[in-house]
Amino acid sequence: MALTLVMLGPPGAGKGTQAERFAREHGIPTVSTGDILREAVHSGSELGRAVKAVMERGELVGDDLIIGIVRERLSQPDAIAGFVLDGFPRTATQAGALDEITAARGPVICVEIQVPDEELVRRLRARRVCEDCGANADAFERQADSLPELCQNTDRCRSIGPKWVARSDDSEAIVRERLKIYRRDTRPVIDFYSARPTFRRIDGMQTPEQVREALGSAVASALGVRRQG
Ligand code: AMP
Repeated sequence: MALTLVMLGPPGAGKGTQAERFAREHGIPTVSTGDILREAVHSGSELGRAVKAVMERGELVGDDLIIGIVRERLSQPDAIAGFVLDGFPRTATQAGALDEITAARGPVICVEIQVPDEELVRRLRARRVCEDCGANADAFERQADSLPELCQNTDRCRSIGPKWVARSDDSEAIVRERLKIYRRDTRPVIDFYSARPTFRRIDGMQTPEQVREALGSAVASALGVRRQG
């Protein structure tokens, strides 16, 4: 049975980093809707032109559009054995669509990473991304030796090194707007999953390594529930 893992949590909770690590360790892809949209904006495609202004305001792009993108991505051969979703679903409508898309694959495992708002604002303001490959790093990681692991996705990154820039939607005002939108639109997604036996919560205030371990245990215990069910 394929592993469908949904990472939930506000912007800055560490979903992206943890999703990438988990996916790498399990040999399955991460599907980040934010990354897909940013790439489209970067390339200037029709999709990119359609979503650019909405993204710059920190608002959500339309459900039909994003559901179509995810449906298409999950039908690719590399997603057959499973995938980790980062940034999707963000509304109850998207969550309902995901159940339908994955109906033949078995239950959705959902893990919410919890972090208080003030810590999220602090983290997002300190975050930088590599302008070339989009790799994420916080202030601590940028000074650590883990840099080559973080940013080696393109020939340019490997040869010249990362060029760290702030994401345009990580300014304090936009971050607060994104958190407001998260509480308003994505809370119903947590309500959608939280009564299920495959839902887990983990504490995002721990070190990244501790969060990684908590995520592994959460998925293992949710899989145990699924096997018994
Ligand atoms: P993220 O990197 O996940 O914070 O996403 C960045 C931006 O992309 C969001 O602020 C939204 O404008 C858009 N976006 C990403 N995922 C979704 C989604 N599932 N539904 C609607 N908009 C999304």
